[in-house]
Amino acid sequence: MFEAQKREIIKAGISLDRYGLIALSGGNVSARMETGEILVTPSGMIYEDMVEDDIVVMDIDGNIIEGSRKPSSDTDAILYIFKHRPDLKAVIHTHQPYATAISLIEDEFRADLTTLANACAGSVKVTPYSSPGSEDMGVDTVKYLGSSLAVILAHHGVITVGTSVKQALYAAVYMEEAARGYLAARAVGPIKHLSDAQIQQAVDVFKYVGQGTGRIPKEMTKRITN
Ligand SMILES: [Zn+2]
Repeated sequence: MFEAQKREIIKAGISLDRYGLIALSGGNVSARMETGEILVTPSGMIYEDMVEDDIVVMDIDGNIIEGSRKPSSDTDAILYIFKHRPDLKAVIHTHQPYATAISLIEDEFRADLTTLANACAGSVKVTPYSSPGSEDMGVDTVKYLGSSLAVILAHHGVITVGTSVKQALYAAVYMEEAARGYLAARAVGPIKHLSDAQIQQAVDVFKYVGQGTGRIPKEMTKRITN
């Protein structure tokens, strides 16, 4: 069951590897089906080696419906997120090094780069530390997510979410790109900030990208000065 969705999950995992967001079998990708089932990548497997049958199908309470592999060790957190955010259809967890590094020095990855506003719909909060494999990872994610598409788990990694696997994947990849830029700048000097109004404009503008004609109404892109 759900062969196409399983392939999409495996492809997303391979993309995480390609963009340097995970190493070997790190992280996980999960998705909620229209009929409510949750698909989760297996524990301890390299994404390139996965086939459709390796993806575990479960109900929202974690009862296995299909699959003989052990589901991700973060399944409790994943199920907590899906349970408490019925609007979400995908959750991705990575140990992407640059975004995770920000959790060592900041409580928030502020959207001072438009890439982050685009990918994550605004600034990204850093959650308190929790144990890997704990439900607390999910509890904190729900608590700190707000309307953004990501949180950074302190001293650990990143969780991104979306209404599709593609949206959660893009959030993770582009957040890492933004984090590289941010840390490069921070290493050599103080950071210049976008204002809240400028960040909101960047979030709103990107809602138009790839939509309708793809043209962004001019009144939306008026320059906002600090
Ligand atoms: Zn982890």
